[in-house]
Formats: sequence, structure tokens, C-alpha cells
Amino acid sequence: MLQSYLHTLLLDVDRDDFATWRERVLALFLFGATVMGAAVAVPSILLAVSKGLWSVALADLMAVIWVACLAGYRSLSYRARAWNLCLLLYLLGLALLLAIGAPSQIYLLAVPVLAALMIGLRASLLAMAVNALTLPLVGYWTQADFPIAGFDATPLMKWVVITLNFSFVSALISFSCVLLLKGLEKAFAKRRDSEERYRTLIEWTPAPLAVHDGTRFIYANPAAVALFGARQATDLIGKPLFELVHPDSHSAMQAQLTALAQADGVAPSSEQKLLQLDGSVIHAEVTSAGIVLDGAHAIQVAIHDITERKAAQQQVQQLAFSDPLTGLPNRRLFLNRLQQALAAAQRHQRQGALVFVDLDNFKSLNETLGQELGDQLLRHVAAQLGACVRDGDTVARLGGDEFVMLLEDLGGSSQEAATHAEAISEKALQALRQRHQLGTFQHHGSASIGITLFGNPQEISVDPLIQAEMAMYQAKSAGRNMLRFYDPQMQTAANHRAALEAALHEALAKEQFCLHYQGQVDETGRFIGAEALLRWLEPSRGLVPPAEFIALAEETGLILPIGAWVLQSACNELARWSRQPGLAHLTLAVNVSARQFRQADFVDQVLRALERSGAPADRLKLELTESLLVSEVDAVIAKMHALKQSGLNFALDDFGTGYSSLSILKQLPLDQLKIDQSFVRDILDDPNDAAIASMVIALANSMGLSVIAEGVESSAQRDLLATLGCQCYQGYLFARPLPVTAFEALVLPCST
Ligand code: C2E
Ligand code: MG
Ligand code: MG
Repeated sequence: MLQSYLHTLLLDVDRDDFATWRERVLALFLFGATVMGAAVAVPSILLAVSKGLWSVALADLMAVIWVACLAGYRSLSYRARAWNLCLLLYLLGLALLLAIGAPSQIYLLAVPVLAALMIGLRASLLAMAVNALTLPLVGYWTQADFPIAGFDATPLMKWVVITLNFSFVSALISFSCVLLLKGLEKAFAKRRDSEERYRTLIEWTPAPLAVHDGTRFIYANPAAVALFGARQATDLIGKPLFELVHPDSHSAMQAQLTALAQADGVAPSSEQKLLQLDGSVIHAEVTSAGIVLDGAHAIQVAIHDITERKAAQQQVQQLAFSDPLTGLPNRRLFLNRLQQALAAAQRHQRQGALVFVDLDNFKSLNETLGQELGDQLLRHVAAQLGACVRDGDTVARLGGDEFVMLLEDLGGSSQEAATHAEAISEKALQALRQRHQLGTFQHHGSASIGITLFGNPQEISVDPLIQAEMAMYQAKSAGRNMLRFYDPQMQTAANHRAALEAALHEALAKEQFCLHYQGQVDETGRFIGAEALLRWLEPSRGLVPPAEFIALAEETGLILPIGAWVLQSACNELARWSRQPGLAHLTLAVNVSARQFRQADFVDQVLRALERSGAPADRLKLELTESLLVSEVDAVIAKMHALKQSGLNFALDDFGTGYSSLSILKQLPLDQLKIDQSFVRDILDDPNDAAIASMVIALANSMGLSVIAEGVESSAQRDLLATLGCQCYQGYLFARPLPVTAFEALVLPCST
């Protein structure tokens, strides 16, 4: 009980101001006076009784009871208790003055001092005035025993001197107390004002601020209360600090506290995830600063809510790095992850795989069923691929119907990685092979998948994405709906092609092409014409035959400028020959590729070449191949007619190797069929080849066309062909393809 009484006296104080402190001092005083009064009163009362001083005993008893009542009766107002105490001391002093004399002055002296301390200047002055009257009156009147050297003969004077001295001392002490208290009161007020200002600032600032002692919250301003979703500060106060910090940010917060302990001031701010009371996450920039609160070290945290900024940042990232249709990572993000995966694979010596998925026939589905169903299918596929991979693997959409799966950490060996990659890819293939319900439509889909492994230290992969794509194309050309692993030979071929293409560009720019001429003879062996055959004079490799580069030139479109050059050069030679007596009778055959012929302005190109060179059109023969006749035949025929009208001739090259139908052949304004050298080569040994050659010759005769056999290397071949009815020949037996001067040198002696 005593403990709780003392606790309420000393600690249970909300306010910390001057008046409160004065109340506490009075309460303590009364408590002390009661305890000590009781301790002193008992022996002194007994002593007084034993000496017959009943009045003293009574006064002591009364005083102790009175002070105990004042101490216990706490609902009495402060001023009433203070005045009561002063009155009690005065009466005690008076009673003792009457009973025992001079020592009682000490009680009277206490009255103005206590009045100054507890009530104020006026009360102190009043007490001094009352004392100044009481002392001479009571002292003189009762002849109180108070000897003073030199004044004992004049008692009135003596009491005047006593009163003056007493008043002087009591005034000195009382005024000092008043002054001291005034100063204290001012200081308290000043502190209260500054605290008030600080509190208003903290309370009104929109920035959330809280104070904790390293483990628990001890203060939170209204902005912090709102931030944490609390109703009032007390909901937060007392909460463990780390209860409001997301586990992801525990280490960041701990680091900040450690930095603060070392820096002793302000710790650098850090981004942290905090938790609201209902468990929602907020992103915040947290700054901690050490402060002293009530004499103890505490930590003030300033919290800057960046949840919205984070959300905006995330949205920007989402837009920049994800495919809006499927929500999957887009090409940019995928390439980023691929780089990381390659680096990680090398670091940890763990292989991974890149799986390229391309839907089969997606384009036609999109065109026939509409883009909306196409989009629906892509979303469906995205979800299915996502279900095939493990957490941590990446499925991305590169664009269109192309998806990739980045599978990391598949194993330490290529074998292991390949097994896992194949299993996952097979799963994807199965999933995509299912029927997909697109609205009311059931789509039977399939996909082609290319796989490449990465992370093998023995094989530095150049670009896994290209490799996987190449493998996917292999799967497509092998019949679709299947998977293929990347084969390094594919890469070598591709590298070779890329280098060749670059070299062809250079050859064109540096004029490294030239034409060789191979003579054509009639049944008498006389040169009647030549075929212009393209050669590439590659500085490091020498003469490169067309078989090594024509196909690529066709694929890349380079055949167009090359073909135009061939045509112009051939026409220039033909024009020159036409002016030279021994050569003027020669025709010149020029090979024209299908792509070249299909150019919209091909007819113009030919006529311009003839015009520029001045070559006779009726000596120019264009060699076409059957591949030209697989599509848009009408346009081909129209162009042939247009050129035919200008006097040009046409031969159908490599005849018999293609699939031209007789009905089409009949419509073409052809002049000659060229028996392909593959039939001539074995004509002596293979009756089939002889039969084909014979049929071609018969066909030509029936259509009114001339016929020429190419690749004739022996006179036996020539003789057999002659018996079959062939009239013209081309082959090493008569002439090899030769530079123009050599060819002319070969022809001129024969014609004279
Ligand atoms: P092609 O038009 O059928 O040309 C005949 C090919 O047979 C030539 O090969 C020629 O050198 C070769 N040849 C001729 N006689 C014999 C022989 O007795 N034995 C053997 N084994 N071969 C013989 P080349 O010059 O290598 O040309 C190959 C192909 O390249 C040509 O076949 C033609 O399709 C194409 N080509 C050549 N020059 C051009 C051109 O300027 N433009 C286009 N588009 N293609 C060309
Ligand atoms: Mg030819
Ligand atoms: Mg040929």
C-alpha cells in the first residue's frame, strides 16, 4: 500500500510542469512530515507528559494528526493543503513559543519560507507580517525566555531587535525562494512552450514519424498512425518494432539499427517493406535517427511512403518488360534473363537449355478465324507452357506465335541436361497437341520445337537463341509437330552461308565476276553458238564455279543484280561478235534464274541490255528452267511472248529433271529443249537414260523445237545421240567453258 502510495506520488504524473512539481513537493513534504513527525512526536510527547508539559504534548499530538490528515486527504485542493500546512506550522510555532520559548522561532521561520515555496510571494509576505506582529507581542507579553546580551534590561527593545533580525532572515530566505521559483517557473514555461511547438510540429507534419527504443514503439504521430492503419497512437505504442517490418526487410532494418549504433546520429535511409496492422504491405523509405527522450536513448524513424511510386515503377517495368497479350516476359526481358542464365551456367558449371516453340499453321488460323481467336490461342499456349516448366524457369513470348522456355540448372553434363530438356519439351509438345477450345471453335493445334543446350564449358555457344530457332526450323521442315535438338553442323553451314553472302556482296561491288563461254556445235561439229557461264574470280580461292554460289544468290535475291550484270555483259560480247565476220553467226545462250525472270521489269531489262549493247536480239537465247513453270505460268508466258516478239529465242535448260506438264510446254514460245547432262552422262550404259533422251528428242521434233544435248564428253555419246535424232551438242568433247579470248581463238580457225 505504501509502495503504491509512493508510486502515485512520485511517478504517476502525466504532466511535467511547474505546478505539478510543486504539488509533488508538497505531497512529499506532508508524507515526510507525517512519518518523521510521528517518529519524533511519540518520544517527545512521552517526555512532555513525564515533565508535566501537557500543553506541549497536546500541541505535538495535534500537529501530527493534522499533518497526517493533510497527507492522507488528497482530494483537498492544493492551495487549501498549502495554507493548512502554513497555518499548522504557525500555530505550532506559536504554541511552542508560549510553552517552551525561543527555539519555537524555527517553526515560525518555516511559515513564510514554505508559503513562498508552496503558494507565492503574497502568502509569504502575509506570513512575514503575521510573524513580525506575533513575535514581539507574544514574546514581550509572555516574557518568553530569550536572553540577548545587553538587552535583557529592556525587554521591549529586546523583542524589537529579535523581530527585526528574524524578519530580516526570513525575508532573505523567502525572497530567495520566490526568486528561485519564479526563475524555475519561467524555465518550465519556456520548456513547455518549446515542447508544445515541437509537439505541434510533429503532430501536424504529414510525414509519418515514430519513436522506438530499439525493440518497441514508444511514440507515433498521427501521420504514422494513419500510415500503419491504426485508429490511435496507443494501437502502435508498445508494439514490437519488427512486428511492423515485413520479414523481407528485417535484415535492412537490422542493418540500419547497426549503422545507427556505429554512426551515432542519422543512419542512411533504406527502402523497406513495412506491414500495416491488417497485414497489408507498404513500401517505404525509412530513415532512423538517434534521439534522447526522457534521458534515455531512443530512435526516431521518419517514414516516407513510396508504395505508389513503387507501383508506378512496377507498372512501367511491366509495360517495358512484359508482353501485353499474354503477360509473359517479352523479348527484351527474356534476352536479359538469357544473359544472366548464361553467366550463371558458366559460374556454377550447370548446363541449361533454351527451347524455341513455334506454333504450326498459326498464320492461317489467324487469317481464317480472325485475330481475336488467334489471341485467345496465344494466351492459352502461354498458360500451357507456363505449366510445363518449374518455378524459376522463364517462359517468354518473342512475338507472333514464337515462344521460348529458358530452362536453367538442368544438370552437370550435356547428357543429363538434354534428357531433362527433352522431357520438358515433350511435355510442352503434348500439351500443345491437345484440342484447344477457342470460343465455340475446337482447334487442333501443334507446335514445332527446337532445343539447344548451353553452359557446356567445352562448347562456347555463339547465340543460343539463333541455335534454338534453327533447330525449330529443322523440326518444321521435318514435318512439324516434333522437336529437334540443335546440331552444331547446322551452325557451321549457317556460318558458311553468312560468310558467302557477305563475300558475294563484295564480289559484286569489286567486279569479281566474269563470264566463260562454252561452245555449242551442230551435227557437223561446226560452232553455231555458245553458252555464257558465270564465274567468280575470288582472290583467295581462284575461280569459283556457280554451283557453289548460285543457289544462295537466288535465296538472298543477289541473283537479281548478278543476273542483270550477266545479261549486259553477254549482250556486249554478242554485239562485238556480230560485228566480227568469223563470229557473227554465233548465238549466245544466257542462263536466267526463275527469280530473275519473275521481276516485273524483266522484259524491259533485256530490251535495254540489247539496245545499250547493240546486240542482235535474234542471236540471244535465254535459258529458262522448269522451276519457272510451277506457278503464275500465265505471267511467264506473257513475258516470253513479249520478248519473242523482239526476236529473242528460248531454250528450256536441264529438261527432264523437272515436272513441266505437256499442256504447259505447248503454250510456251520455246525454240529449243536442252537434254540435261545427267541423262547424257550414262546414256551408253543406262537404257533408261537413252530412252529419256530419245523421248525428249521425239517431243522436241513433235513440237517443232530444236534439241541440244549438254554434257557430251565422248564421241560415242555424240554418236548415240545422233542416231536418236539429236542435232546440236554441247560438252567437253567440243569445248570446255573458256574465257572469251580463248573461246574466240577456238571458234575462229574453224569458221574459216
Ligand atoms: P547449266 O546451265 O546446265 O550449265 C551447264 C553446266 O554443265 C555448266 O556448269 C558447264 O560447265 C557444265 N558442262 C558443260 N559441258 C560439260 C561436260 O561435258 N561435262 C560436265 N561434267 N559438265 C559440263 P557450270 O558452269 O558449273 O554451271 C552450273 C550451273 O550454274 C548452270 O547449269 C546454270 O544452271 C548455272 N549458271 C551458270 N551461269 C549462270 C548465270 O549466269 N545465271 C544463272 N542464273 N545461272 C547460271
Ligand atoms: Mg544452262
Ligand atoms: Mg543445263
